[in-house]
Amino acid sequence: MSVFRRASHIFSEPPSSQELTLAQWRALSRQVPLLYLMLVSNTVILAATHISSAPWELTIFIPAALAIVCALRVAMWWRNRNAEMNIEKARRDLRTMIWLGPGIAVGFTAWALSLYPFGDPFQQSQIAFYMGVTTIGVMFCLMHVRRAALSVGLCVLLPFTAFFGMADQSTFLAIALNMTLVIAALTVILLINNRDFAALVASRSEMARRQSETQRLLEENHRLANMDTLTGLPNRRSFERHLNLALAHADKSGEMVGVARIDLDGFKSVNEIFGQICGDRVIIEAAHRLKALKRPDMFLARTDGSGFILIIPSPADDETLARYGDAMCQSIKQFFELPGGNVRLTASAGLASSRPGDTADSLFDRADYATSFAKREVRGTAVVFSKDHSQEIDKVRRMEHLLHTADFDSEIYILLQPQYDMTLRATTGFEVLARWRSPLLGEVSPAEFIPMAERTGCINKITQTVLRKALLVCRTLPSSIRVSVNLSANDIGSTTTIEAIAAQIGAAPKPCRIDFEITETAVVRDLNQANDALLVLLALGARISLDDFGTGHSSLTHVQRLPLHRIKIDRSFVAEVTCDVTSRAIVKTVLDLCRNLGMSCVFEGVETEEQLEALVDLGGSVMQGYLFGRPMAVDKVDDYLRREYARDRRIEDNCLLEAVG
Ligand code: C2E
Ligand code: CA
Ligand code: CA
Repeated sequence: MSVFRRASHIFSEPPSSQELTLAQWRALSRQVPLLYLMLVSNTVILAATHISSAPWELTIFIPAALAIVCALRVAMWWRNRNAEMNIEKARRDLRTMIWLGPGIAVGFTAWALSLYPFGDPFQQSQIAFYMGVTTIGVMFCLMHVRRAALSVGLCVLLPFTAFFGMADQSTFLAIALNMTLVIAALTVILLINNRDFAALVASRSEMARRQSETQRLLEENHRLANMDTLTGLPNRRSFERHLNLALAHADKSGEMVGVARIDLDGFKSVNEIFGQICGDRVIIEAAHRLKALKRPDMFLARTDGSGFILIIPSPADDETLARYGDAMCQSIKQFFELPGGNVRLTASAGLASSRPGDTADSLFDRADYATSFAKREVRGTAVVFSKDHSQEIDKVRRMEHLLHTADFDSEIYILLQPQYDMTLRATTGFEVLARWRSPLLGEVSPAEFIPMAERTGCINKITQTVLRKALLVCRTLPSSIRVSVNLSANDIGSTTTIEAIAAQIGAAPKPCRIDFEITETAVVRDLNQANDALLVLLALGARISLDDFGTGHSSLTHVQRLPLHRIKIDRSFVAEVTCDVTSRAIVKTVLDLCRNLGMSCVFEGVETEEQLEALVDLGGSVMQGYLFGRPMAVDKVDDYLRREYARDRRIEDNCLLEAVG
């Protein structure tokens, strides 16, 4: 780079960022008043020492004029010191400084040199000292704006060295040289400082940018972590925090907090029939409707797939809660307009109010219980958690505890219900039904304890107890009779249980006469795993029946993919077979299906002669129901079979007599 280009590079102000410009302005605004104060003070001192030797224009008039210019500049900077600075104004002020600085420097230099002829050698030395010291001070004050500092330095240095260099005093020549060296050194320091200052500002603004980006990400994370992205409502986590706060507040004020949990009924089928996008639309619209119902002090959140929660601060009483619940259920009952057609849905709501010492979990659990109760008993309406529910929960808990600690061998016993084949005119099997006789609770219905055992995980042990007892009964039954044992989803899903069942069957006399009844709900969780488990049982000679067909997720896939021997048609179809055309058609179709696939078909819950006749007309053969026999104690089975045998003998004898007669 040529010397000239290098010099011009030093003097030019590199394009600066907004942050740098503002930082320069701020630095100057602090230093400029000091600069002018120093300049004017030094000038007053120099003028004072020349007052008696120089003309008044030079000692009073010109210094006063220069001081006024300085005062105006100070006033301008002083006025702006607290103002909100924008980048345009800062740039303007810096530009003004860059061209005005050298102008003022030239003015002071000319004035100082013009005093020279009027002074003695001491006063002349004072002029040189004044110019040198003041220039260094001014450059120092302007160091953050390189161009202003350097041009001021140059505007003084050139006339200074020219003037004193030409003086015939060698001392002044030395002073000019000193001044040049000092200004040169100062220039180098200034350039380094200037570069460091720019780097510092750049790194500071980069840090600030990163900090604000981190802050933005933190806020976004916080928002996402607490918000349901589909509806924009707060999510479960946010709900829990709010409920805790509301309970703490209620604790202090002695008020109550109400919680309403609302869930869309049968929402899964909207997704299945109309697709997930439409399902999302329904959720968004439902959120919108519920939002419209809430008061500003209430808190609405979406807690799971089709569930919402409303926190109601200080509800007056249970009636108030019930009114909110009804309003919410009503709002969901309006049509949902979807591209594939209008959908009508219902929602069930459970509401509960806080009690002293409640935690968020205990209050939510009560609202949740009330929702499950509403779904089960009065679908599509709102239920407020009551004392009865409390007692029911206590009862269930006690029962769960007793079931958990029960001695299954002595407390679980089995009943057998016959399965009668109309074609063979004989009982061909018995279904084994578990019963629980608790020493403390007495007889407990399987409708109560089986779901409880499935929930608490002790169903596997019950199944093994039932199977052991069924295998014992098998030994006493005629060899043509098979015995059906019910398996639950937990049994099929547990390899340990399947292995234990296989071990029991393996140890029993051959051939195996056990059938296992499974429901579709038990296999849908994992069809492949269910298939593997059933193949293990099949390999031992057991057979598989599909129980309660038509009530669950009835699907031909299950019938096709599972190694089934038999389908058991649920009693709801049997009950309607005499009066409902659709039930008749379904029964007929399933019978055809079984025939085509080489499976047998059992009808459950046959209670009347009319039902039997209708089923036989349709081609049914194997029947199970009260018409043939209620579930009976093991020691009654022998009698039952004897009676059946005697009846058949009578019929045969009559037929023989008729034939002979
Ligand atoms: P399920 O397997 O469908 O059993 C048939 C149920 O229908 C039995 O009720 C039986 O008593 C009843 N039933 C039979 N014939 C008729 C009839 O003509 N009319 C009417 N109204 N009902 C009839 P139960 O014994 O109360 O059993 C209820 C359910 O409990 C069973 O339904 C089964 O799902 C479950 N269960 C019973 N024992 C066991 C077991 O050992 N293991 C498992 N996993 N579940 C069992
Ligand atoms: Ca069954
Ligand atoms: Ca059944």
